[in-house]
Amino acid sequence: MEIKKQIEQLRKELHQHNYNYYVLDNATISDYDFDMKLKELQALEKKHPEYYDPNSPSLRVGGAVTKNFMTVVHGQRMYSLDNSYSKEDLEDWEKRIQRILGDVEVAYTCELKYDGASISLTYEDGKLVRGLTRGDGIQGDDVTNNIKTIRSVPLQLQGDYPKKFDIRGEIVLPFEGFAQMNEERIQNGEEPYMNPRNTAAGSLKLQDSALVAERPLECLLYSIVGEDLGLESQFEMLEKARSWGFKVPTVAKLCKSIDQVLQFVEYWDVHRHQLPYETDGVVVKVNSLQHQEELGYTSKSPRWAMAYKFKAEQVSTTLEEITYQVGRTGAITPVANLEPVLLAGTTVKRASLHNADQIEKFDIRVGDTVFVEKGGEIIPKIIGVDFTKRPLDSQPTKYIDQCPECGTHLERVAGDAKHFCPNEYGCPPQITGRIQHFISRKAMDIEGLGAETVELLFREGLIRNYADLYSLTKEQILPLERMAEKSAENLIKGVAESVQIPFERVLFALGIRFVGETVAKKLAKAYKSIDALQNATKEELMQVDEIGQRIAESVVDFFGNEVNLEIISRLKAVGLQLEISEDLLLNQSDLFNGMTFVVSGVFENVSRNELKKLIEDNGGKVGSSISSKTSYLVAGDKMGPSKRTKAESVGVPIISESDFMAMLN
Ligand code: AMP
Ligand code: ZN
Repeated sequence: MEIKKQIEQLRKELHQHNYNYYVLDNATISDYDFDMKLKELQALEKKHPEYYDPNSPSLRVGGAVTKNFMTVVHGQRMYSLDNSYSKEDLEDWEKRIQRILGDVEVAYTCELKYDGASISLTYEDGKLVRGLTRGDGIQGDDVTNNIKTIRSVPLQLQGDYPKKFDIRGEIVLPFEGFAQMNEERIQNGEEPYMNPRNTAAGSLKLQDSALVAERPLECLLYSIVGEDLGLESQFEMLEKARSWGFKVPTVAKLCKSIDQVLQFVEYWDVHRHQLPYETDGVVVKVNSLQHQEELGYTSKSPRWAMAYKFKAEQVSTTLEEITYQVGRTGAITPVANLEPVLLAGTTVKRASLHNADQIEKFDIRVGDTVFVEKGGEIIPKIIGVDFTKRPLDSQPTKYIDQCPECGTHLERVAGDAKHFCPNEYGCPPQITGRIQHFISRKAMDIEGLGAETVELLFREGLIRNYADLYSLTKEQILPLERMAEKSAENLIKGVAESVQIPFERVLFALGIRFVGETVAKKLAKAYKSIDALQNATKEELMQVDEIGQRIAESVVDFFGNEVNLEIISRLKAVGLQLEISEDLLLNQSDLFNGMTFVVSGVFENVSRNELKKLIEDNGGKVGSSISSKTSYLVAGDKMGPSKRTKAESVGVPIISESDFMAMLN
């Protein structure tokens, strides 16, 4: 009983801290203390699986994997919205409303139109039971596991909430987090994501919820549906939802006339650029729910609501110069240098031109007056040329054919839009980029060494690759600019300490193209040592879960290169972790190689996730549905009868938790 109380108390506290931090934006505990409490809860939950709670705050870190998202019919359809673009459109709409309602006073709630992925959440007895994507409006995909990792989604409500209801809203990815994600992708040699909205929508459909947990998604709510809710207006609905613990933006405003609505629109058309996430308009809703009911729906959208779309902001300016950037992987990005111009509240001097095709398609030339737009993307883009203003002596842009940094002839691979510099080991930004990636926080995390120092060390001829870091001496670096006794010592110490970094992170640090953090983990787990990985063929690599042809080829290329092999042997010599350490291997085996298990029901001594982990750690696969390919069905308590029937009909052996443990031991 004591333990149960302790667990409940911790859950309650953590729910509250999550709420303070992610909904109210007002933390009352340090990150460290929060982590400690979370760890304590996780340890207790692990020891006492009998107190499992599907809505425990410990689930925020994710872990559950959804192989196939189930399609579920919405309790009430999720409609689209009608669009309007002018004062006249809104006035026409008001006339249509008044024809139906008669001559009554109509008030409107104005909200912002958040640009993300729509979501419908179902709550029962104050607990989140399901999250569905909008899908086609009639039915959506069950993405509950992923939704639970979003910190601003309450798992447990507070206050006077109704027994059962759905609440709708938008999953958004704030600009800042989006920019950070892209920075990491570029670092890993991956294409950056196009815009926050698509990335938010894509996140909801990731199979591994632990990956979703790492993304800084937010959930903004705006509408409750259900029966006997005891609510009278849209505005009250927003306030109520907020009081139960939902994140409901406070910008909503109650307006008494279309004129007031227009004032709201004008205000936000300008001020929206200060918001942390993308908005693409205003949603105007008839406030009274009684009125809403009378107005009803057309086949597509409610008659009681109207979206007012902001115009994408656009300006024109002169293109002064096209410059070319060389990334860590050698990819060339053309950049438009513009005559500075004010756009969406900031001064814009540069815009991305993406690649040679883009320049050719729009026939963009230096000296042109170009149209620049800022949409969901962070970096503004050029969307066209004002040909009426083209200077008479204008010349077509000739894309560079030599690397601007090292002069090597550029290459272009079929299917890749970008040119790249093939001089991997002689091109300065590629050399320093690789070393900077190697020392970065998620890779070797070398304290005392930063990106600028790497450039300095390279310029001074002290390092040419990351293995060189390990032979640096204090005497060599002390004479450098801005280098003091203390900082030199820290640098040497940081480098020396990095030999402790585990294999999977070393593998990521090597900077193999397309091998990001997750892929590095997968490869480390599958091959366990760099020697084994080095000997793997493309075909073998492609057998590893989620490793496709592109990654496999890149890995084979990397180890096929003499320079890399020499660097790796030097890293080995200084003692870097180039295989999985003994402790990690201790609980792993190949026992279940080639076997697929389906796990169903509730277990006595382990949680379902722990059971799955045991299977995977020992080389097995976890399947989501039973087929003739399933090796075993591990049946716990409360397993659905249909699973048993299915297993029996296709001849899959059914084993209990203790049978499984016996196999394992
Ligand atoms: P559309 O997809 O352009 O027809 O617009 C309808 C979508 O706008 C809805 O499905 C919602 O996902 C989204 N939306 C964003 N903000 C709001 C809001 N405040 N009220 C209603 N819908 C919104
Ligand atoms: Zn180059």
